[in-house]
Amino acid sequence: MEHKKEDFSEWYNEVVESAGLVDKRYPVKGMHIWRPYGWKIMHNIDTYFREIFTDYSHEEVNFPLLVPETEFKKEAEHIRGFENEVFWVTHGGLDELDIKLLLRPTSETAMYPMFSLWIRSHADLPLKIFQIVNVFRYETKQTRTFIRMREVHFFEAHTAHRTYEEAEKQIKEDIEIWKKIARKLALPYKIVKKVEWDKFPGAIYSLGVETVMPSGRTLQIATFHQYGQNFSKPYDIKYLNEDGEHEYVHQTTFGMSERLLGAMVGIHGDDRGLIIPPEIAPIQVVIVPIVTKKKKEVLEESKKIRDELRESSIKVHLDDRDNYTPGYKFYDWELRGVPLRLELGPRDMEKGQVVLVRRDSREKIFASREEYVEKIKTVLADIQDNLYNRAKKDMEQKIVNIESLDEIDNVEGVAAVPWCGSEECGHEIEDRTERRIIGSPIEEENAKKCVICGKETRKIAYVAKPY
Ligand code: ZN
Repeated sequence: MEHKKEDFSEWYNEVVESAGLVDKRYPVKGMHIWRPYGWKIMHNIDTYFREIFTDYSHEEVNFPLLVPETEFKKEAEHIRGFENEVFWVTHGGLDELDIKLLLRPTSETAMYPMFSLWIRSHADLPLKIFQIVNVFRYETKQTRTFIRMREVHFFEAHTAHRTYEEAEKQIKEDIEIWKKIARKLALPYKIVKKVEWDKFPGAIYSLGVETVMPSGRTLQIATFHQYGQNFSKPYDIKYLNEDGEHEYVHQTTFGMSERLLGAMVGIHGDDRGLIIPPEIAPIQVVIVPIVTKKKKEVLEESKKIRDELRESSIKVHLDDRDNYTPGYKFYDWELRGVPLRLELGPRDMEKGQVVLVRRDSREKIFASREEYVEKIKTVLADIQDNLYNRAKKDMEQKIVNIESLDEIDNVEGVAAVPWCGSEECGHEIEDRTERRIIGSPIEEENAKKCVICGKETRKIAYVAKPY
């Protein structure tokens, strides 16, 4: 395994394959195979999405993959934003299609023609739906597993409301939902408002959830967009209000993708491999029997322990493979990031104990057979917290306040730069630093002077190299 600190990029590229998440050998650029272990983790994340969005009154739908060119071309800015990125289907068999079809890069243009049929009166609002599907983007840059792909496992929630204010409330709710997701994945983040020239094509404004990878580069892992009536007008999505008048709806979206898994891999892992947060781990506890002697008894006891843990709803796996040494098994499960290992040997049986080894700190804990189930629950919760806290601390250290662009070369992560907010100064910051403004924190800061024009400002630009 490569050393994570020395060459993060190499480490990342290697670990996603060696830990059994993906196989990159598929013969289409930017399309990797989800292997069973990787797919299980993604599936656990999706299951949580379904739970939480249902709690917040969203309903799951599933739209077709193909969108007719005629629908795609209705919203001008949206087209400009995506036309270089879409894959086209031009033929059916040998026949050229009258109307070309595209593979969805996101689903506004697939969904909104249907919204105009579904939404009739104020009683149909709010409409809150989501889907978990694959989307396609013709990426020309170098692709990277989970981070920059041509086929992307994607989550998208779409809502429609009576008023702009109700759409704004929805975005507040989205942030509330996001906070819970972040805890589940133990991911630290900053919510920023995207700059005008980098917002979602067609949005009034976009908020981005950004995290900082160990390389110092930022990764956008979720977005919330306020569309206002920018889509409802071209797609004719109207409702009859209480006064009997037709009005266009106000819309929002909330998007996430397999990038969340990429962030989790990059942020929590170490030189031994992955570290999966217990709350989404397919295996929370792996039992490794130490069978130098009394093999039969140790295996039987291990099975008993497995059954007891299962009864307590702990996701457990008993590694009773015959042909591998315990040492090999330790290595293997550490690589896959199982949060807790339980070892049981003949001497532990005599003492009435089990040995627990944490994946995050490698601390060894002895627990008696009477109370080991409770102990495991406590330790798993502690690992979850520890992963979040140490990642948050790491991230905060990578965000550095500077007051002049001369200092930027010393910043490996994110520079927090006073900025008046003008597009002119913004572009100059980007040109001079050869970095991007990934957005501005939502909270206002103390008054400082714009690094370009010197005007007093409470606005900060986060300047970084994004993935
Ligand atoms: Zn300025």
